[in-house]
Amino acid sequence: MKQKKKAEKIIFESEKDVPLMPISLGPMLWNRTGAWRNIRPEINLTECIQCGICWKFCPDVAIAIENEFPVIDYDYCKGCGICAEECPTKCIAMVEERK
Ligand code: SF4
Ligand code: SF4
Repeated sequence: MKQKKKAEKIIFESEKDVPLMPISLGPMLWNRTGAWRNIRPEINLTECIQCGICWKFCPDVAIAIENEFPVIDYDYCKGCGICAEECPTKCIAMVEERK
């Protein structure tokens, strides 16, 4: 049986390194995916380098850039953790959802 090749993680330093690719065009307004979440991303803005990668990768367009910093709309954030995984400074922590 043929061995599967191990995929390498690609590190982007800023959104300028990200190749042109489709991104979500908008949140699913009829489906507030925030209700799915059991962990939530919290951004430590003192460590944020304003690269915009979290904004670029969020599949629900739940991150906006305001005053050059990312802001999460928790009505639509489903807690997938992609933003935390891709953040180059690891300043997004996934924490247990508070009810
Ligand atoms: S965890 Fe991050 S990437 Fe996932 S939906 Fe929420 S803000 Fe978007
Ligand atoms: S939170 Fe992380 S990924 Fe988002 S803009 Fe700041 S440094 Fe970049």
